Formats: sequence, structure tokens, C-alpha cells
Amino acid sequence: MTSNPDMRRMIPSVDRVLQASNDLVSQWGHSVVSALIREHIDQLRGATDLKLTEQACDVANIRDNVQAYLIEEDRRGIRPVFNLSGVVLHTNLGRACLPDQAAEAARLAGISTTNLEYDLRTGKRGERDHHAEHLICELTGCEAATIVNNGAAAIVLLLTALAQGRGVPVSRGELVEIGGSFRMTEIMEVAGCKLIEIGATNRTHLKDYEKAINADTALLMKVHTSNYRIDGFTQSVSAKDLIDLAHDNDLPCVFDLGSGCLIDYKALGLPAEPMAADYIAAGADLITFSGDKLLGGPQCGIIAGQKVLIDKIKNHPLKRALRPGAMTFAALAEVLKLYRYPEKLTQALPTLRHMTRPVPDMSAQADRLCPEMADILSPDFEVTKKACQSQIGSGSFPVESLDSFAICIKSVGQQDRDLRRLSTAFRQLPLPVIGRLNDGEFLLDLRCLDQEIQFVEQLPQLRDALLC
Ligand SMILES: *Cc1c(COP(=O)(O)O)cnc(C)c1O
Repeated sequence: MTSNPDMRRMIPSVDRVLQASNDLVSQWGHSVVSALIREHIDQLRGATDLKLTEQACDVANIRDNVQAYLIEEDRRGIRPVFNLSGVVLHTNLGRACLPDQAAEAARLAGISTTNLEYDLRTGKRGERDHHAEHLICELTGCEAATIVNNGAAAIVLLLTALAQGRGVPVSRGELVEIGGSFRMTEIMEVAGCKLIEIGATNRTHLKDYEKAINADTALLMKVHTSNYRIDGFTQSVSAKDLIDLAHDNDLPCVFDLGSGCLIDYKALGLPAEPMAADYIAAGADLITFSGDKLLGGPQCGIIAGQKVLIDKIKNHPLKRALRPGAMTFAALAEVLKLYRYPEKLTQALPTLRHMTRPVPDMSAQADRLCPEMADILSPDFEVTKKACQSQIGSGSFPVESLDSFAICIKSVGQQDRDLRRLSTAFRQLPLPVIGRLNDGEFLLDLRCLDQEIQFVEQLPQLRDALLC
């Protein structure tokens, strides 16, 4: 292909495009805008003549391309989404939503210097754990507690501080994998302790623990099998029996509870989960749980139990690498304070409100929303109200599900491709909507839909999104 010198001469200079991009520079800053213009122009210089049209070389066109790129890039940041997936605590969607007072406390801690590690009474150095520790003690009955970045960090820190280089017997029925890269076996390796697998997948007896205990044993540990259930011919050792055995051998007994369940879920009509306070009362030396699962708070991991052990954990150098910041402590303390009013919790705590939301609420919401949705999506899609099941998620209550109602959308032409296009369009809305594709249907489970007005307001934009 012969090069066309006239066309090459049409490629503008970086400076010329920059001059026409003042508005972009003031919005996104000089360095990224000029770098993108340069990149664009370099591409034009390397392009074949065929691609080198008059329009491609137009200054305004290059500016518009750069702007479109920057807008798209902004969309990649953290954004609120509507979680209509049917999973209340969805790890990919950020798990628990904070109550307003917790979010506000985090905001204030974020915009200001704080007394994070400063004791305002004495004017001396303070401890960041103290902002939430007393509340954890009050709510679980433990002596002391420490807070780290998440549940996995709690286990890594606990094992590193108390069991490094030594043996930890764990039942083969409890060697859980909690999605992604969290596997009990690997966590043990990271913490530098020796996993002693005992029992069988379906049955572990007290005598299996007894046989495994020797001079090298650091502690006994039980892991809550939060995201699966082994049914049938099963046997596991009760918490009480394991605690007694550990104490007979002068060993700490540790429980990874997974979810931070601080109240009786059965009383709320939800499936029972292990309650932190019950384990402490039964004599557990340490328990660990997440802050953003059932507890309904910010992402963090909590270790609670005996003061001597907690002190050892707090003083381990790894603690510093795993400690959360002021915003987490501020939000956590506010959420924990709400637990002082258990009778208000199903309204005050979004996670609990979503889990206990009455079925007639979702049903009425579906009645309101289905006609609006049908208006917008006809004639290509058929919209109906459908009874469905939501899950709690994040490993809590693996088997039980909650009755709910969904907006059910089907392609009139029975095309899976159309449904995928529709689910993409929902994700491209200003407040992206996450539903679930299931067997030729696109379901929007209404259990977690709080902001109905905002949801409805943006629906007309679906039409445009479907056209592109
Ligand atoms: C969720 C879970 C963890 C990990 O907690 P993260 O907060 O996700 O790090 C550990 N153990 C169990 C049993 C869990 O359910």
C-alpha cells in the first residue's frame, strides 16, 4: 500500500488537540488527558491509509474519543449497585450494607483526624481495638477481643501467633474452602502450622482428637462448615466435648464460626446459626468471625475470647499488618451498638431487614413493578411476577432458603442471546442492576430492593441500552 503523504499531514499535533480539550483537562487533569491524546495520535501515525480518514484525524473527534475513554474508565470504580441477585450477603457485591449511622461514623472518621490510637482521657497512646472491644465483650461475654481486616486474616493471625511450627488437629469434615483462595489447608500452611487431619469426611469422633494430641499440639480447632452440609451417616464432636478434651490436655480450644451471629436467629424465624455468646459460655478459649456477614457490619474479622491469648495475638508483629483503619472501627462500633436493642435490629440493620423482610412486601412490590417493566420491555420480552427463593449467602445457612418474589423476564422469541443482552443492559444503567439468569429466565429478586423510586426512575434508559 502506498503511503498518502497528504493524509499523514492531516494528523493533528498533540498540542492542537490539547488546546481543544481544556474542559477534559480541568475534569481529569493534564497528565492523563495529554497521555491519552498522544497515544491516540501515535496510533493514527501507525495506521494504514485505509483507516486514516479525514474524520479519524479530526481534532474534535479525537477529543471525543478521549472523553469517551475517560468516562468509561470512571465507570470502573466502586459504584453502588442494586443487588437483585437473590443472595443477601453476596461476596462479589460487597456483602453487608451498613446502617446509616455506621456509614456516617465511617465518613466522619474518614474526613478527619481521629483518636484512633490516642487516649483522650490520659493524652497518651491508646489502642485502636478499644473502640470496639468493649462492645464485643458485652455482646459475646468474652474477656477481650481484637479486630483485623477480615475473617481469613483472623484465622491466619490466630494460628501464626499461637500455633506456628506446631500441630493443629482438624476434622477432615471441616477442611473448608470458602470460595476463591481461602482453603483451611492453605491457611494453615501460610500460618506455618502443621495441619493434622483427623477422622473421615463424614464422621469424626472424640477419640480421633484424643489420638492426635501429643506434645507438639498447639490447640484444638473446630471450623464451622458454613457453606456446605454433610448429610446422612455423619458424626462430629460437639463443641462442649471438644472444649473439655482441650482443657483436660491444657490446650486452648478455638472455633472458626465463619459468620458473626450475635443474636438468636431462630427467634426471628431464620435458620439457627452458631451464636458467638453460646461458644464463649461453653468455655471456648477463642472464637473468630467476620464483621460483614450475618453481623451486618463493615468488612473485618473479629477474634474474641480469653485475655491472655488475645494479648498474645495483639502483640504479634503480624497484627500490625492486618489491622483495619479508623473508618472500619467507627462503623463497627456503631453496628455493634445497635445490638443493644435487639427488638429494633430487624429494622435498623439492613442485612437483618433484608433477611426478615415479609413475603407480602416483596409480593406487593412485584405487583407495582411488573407493569412498569412490561411497558418498557414489550414487545420483545414478557414480564411476570414469580415466587422464588433467596439465599442468605456468604456461607450462612447453606441449605435453607427464604421465600421471596421476583420480576421474571423472558424473551418472547425464546432467545438466550436476548436475555443475555438484557442482563447486560441492566448492568449498564447508571445504578447497575444485578439479577440472575436462570433456565431461560432473567430474575430480579426483590428482597433487597430498598430504593424503589431510583430503580423505577432509571428504567426508561434500558431501552437505549438495549438498542446498542
Ligand atoms: C467466611 C468464612 C471465613 C472467611 O471470612 P472472610 O471474612 O470472608 O475473610 C472463614 N471461615 C469460615 C467458616 C467462613 O464462613
